[in-house]
Amino acid sequence: MASEKLFDDVLKANAAFADSYEHADLQARAVRGLGVLTCMDSRIDPLAMLGLAPGDAKILRNAGARVTDDVLRTLVLASYLLGVDRIMVVAHTGCRMAGGNEEDVHEAIRAAGGPDTRSISFLATTAQEAALRADVQRIRSWPYLPDVPVGGFLYDLTTGRLAAVC
Ligand SMILES: [Zn+2]
Repeated sequence: MASEKLFDDVLKANAAFADSYEHADLQARAVRGLGVLTCMDSRIDPLAMLGLAPGDAKILRNAGARVTDDVLRTLVLASYLLGVDRIMVVAHTGCRMAGGNEEDVHEAIRAAGGPDTRSISFLATTAQEAALRADVQRIRSWPYLPDVPVGGFLYDLTTGRLAAVC
């Protein structure tokens, strides 16, 4: 099958992973009670960044670590069904979604040979800290999660350090 050839490297790695698989007994609830929303940036390793192991936390990722309707939907499930009782929103330095405005992203996609994406909202911002504060506040004021503490943080990709923002 073509997809096997395309994904051959990771399927081989999975076979080795499965040979010494040790997580069969993990529970679905987040053992450390933590929910983390961060960016899809491949330079971020959320578990290592926070000293976590598989099973400890629910990790949500999207472009820019932005609080969207889907993030809110997922956090309600994580809170009531999966043991999450504290939430971190972790933005990061050097984020493409904070390096220009919405039109800059549409233009970059066009320049890369992509289609006209102006009907999509990418939630890009040039005011990253303000966006982070607003996103954290959006979770705090979400009526379905009245008692869950939420913190906003900025992760520095050059030092590996997290700074509390709000
Ligand atoms: Zn990013």
